Amino acid sequence: MNIILLGPPGAGKGTQAQRLQADVGMIQLSTGDMLRAAVASGSALGKQAKGLMENGQLVPDELMVGLIKDRIAQPDCAKGFILDGFPRTEAQAKALDKMLAEAARKLDQVIEMEVDEKALTERVVGRFTCAKCGTGYHDTFKRPKVDGVCDVCGSKEFTRRKDDNAETMKTRMVAYRAQTEPLLPYYRARGILKTVDGMAAMDEVYRQIRAVLAGA
Ligand code: AMP
Repeated sequence: MNIILLGPPGAGKGTQAQRLQADVGMIQLSTGDMLRAAVASGSALGKQAKGLMENGQLVPDELMVGLIKDRIAQPDCAKGFILDGFPRTEAQAKALDKMLAEAARKLDQVIEMEVDEKALTERVVGRFTCAKCGTGYHDTFKRPKVDGVCDVCGSKEFTRRKDDNAETMKTRMVAYRAQTEPLLPYYRARGILKTVDGMAAMDEVYRQIRAVLAGA
């Protein structure tokens, strides 16, 4: 099954996609993670993306479409994938339709994670990640069991995203509302959009997502 998790920054797309990947083996395709890896490696793509990401602006569609097209052609994606952070514009959504049709594949479900906008900045500003295994944490909502030590791999190194600050969040929300939110009616019209309550506790959000997928 191939799905999209759609929602604003801080909605919990990455957290839920990681859990789905661990449980059902669908592959999480986070364009944000791919771009951060490109920035860290200093590649040409990374150089183009760095400044835009730090300002909370979108990276040009052609670059994003090329990145996803190459990635979904990899053998591991044959088992199904979870798009997390893509598509973010109508042009990306149309390019996705085209590339899937050309590969005789389809999009099975789009899941909107509905959240209260006021909660998003607090969620985003407090988050951090284990530098070794990528497990996500939060200063208020999900601290490691032992302060400073990753619950999963025991590493003591954590990273925080440069764009997870209140100022950049404003630009990211403007981009979401103007360019990504219009994808909701696009997918609703195709009858493949379902909405879950992204404000519920993490386990409950996951339960709702699994219920949607069971019915898809
Ligand atoms: P994310 O990790 O999904 O919040 O993405 C972090 C940043 O990467 C975004 O604010 C954009 O600058 C860039 N980015 C990620 N995915 C896309 C995309 N599909 N289209 C354009 N820019 C993207």
